Amino acid sequence: MLTWRFHWSVPEFLKPPIMNKKNKDSFPWGKSLRYLDWEGKSEKLTPSKSLISSTVHEWYDAKHRKKSPEEICFINSIIPAACPYCRNDAFVKRGKAKGIQRYRCSSCGKTFTPMAGTIFQDIKIPISEWTEFLLHLFEHHSIKTTARDNRNAKNTGKYWLVKTFLVLRGIQDKVMLGGRIQLDETSFSVVRSKVVKKDGKKLRGISRNRIAVAVAKDDSGSMVFLCEYTSKPSNESTWRTLGGHIMEGSHLIHDGEHSHECLVRNRKLTQEIHKSRETKGLQDKDNPLSLVNHLHFLIKDFMKTHGGFTREEIQDWMNLAWFLLSKPENRYEKVDKFMNMAAKCSQNVKYRQVFKRKLK
Ligand SMILES: [Zn+2]
Repeated sequence: MLTWRFHWSVPEFLKPPIMNKKNKDSFPWGKSLRYLDWEGKSEKLTPSKSLISSTVHEWYDAKHRKKSPEEICFINSIIPAACPYCRNDAFVKRGKAKGIQRYRCSSCGKTFTPMAGTIFQDIKIPISEWTEFLLHLFEHHSIKTTARDNRNAKNTGKYWLVKTFLVLRGIQDKVMLGGRIQLDETSFSVVRSKVVKKDGKKLRGISRNRIAVAVAKDDSGSMVFLCEYTSKPSNESTWRTLGGHIMEGSHLIHDGEHSHECLVRNRKLTQEIHKSRETKGLQDKDNPLSLVNHLHFLIKDFMKTHGGFTREEIQDWMNLAWFLLSKPENRYEKVDKFMNMAAKCSQNVKYRQVFKRKLK
């Protein structure tokens, strides 16, 4: 009874993966739950091994349960915007498979489900798992511990994070700040791989540098966290980053950083300057830049949990931090908001694309 799972008729995805060079070291924390070394061998399991196997598989089954009626209902509520294969928007309903609506494209003739082309495509794990992943992420857990709590392999956490980034991409694009705006830059250390030459040979190395992030908030609560992609902001980088987010005629409260001049000039802003040497150490109630200082603290605190990001990822992390610190404050409502955004976002990334370099 305890070993029925590995009978020949067991679905492919429940069988232990074959150990080979590629996946031998891919689970540094522990192996994925579906995998136990002693299974699949001919000898009879001892009672203790049987007990461990059965317990572990119970967990695995609980994590990989069948789609609930609520999940099927959620999936069917997603109305595709276009055919994921040819982008044509003419398609018709074409029956259901396991309760999930199928569509047929009138142009290319291919059939697809509501999940096709979204981040929910191609996952063996139920969409409901996203709730748990997102709740952990919104609680400032690192990806490593999130994967550990979810008992998924470490790479799955990273893969889901990249999917999360995709959904949040562009989330700050339409934010406009007006009225009284506090603005100040902070910076993060980023890693980037570089090629170092030694004895005529090319070697890969890692370099670190700091990247400035503009943080601004107005008195209505709107805010932006935008990467300037430079260590020292210039008129050019500041205008490129913030120009489209500041309403004309607003009042800018800042430290007098010279690159802010372009905003004051081009957006016809009034301004008040508080040099950092004057505001340093002031209590919040006395500090004219307290809103933005507080945001710096919260973003740093969030980023500390994760650590080790690249220059290419920094804006994605800022979008995530922005989403965390924006309304709704309630975590469950935040998950709900995210799930609805994900259902409407016709972008996906394949596992292979995320781990391309490692698999080579
Ligand atoms: Zn099509």
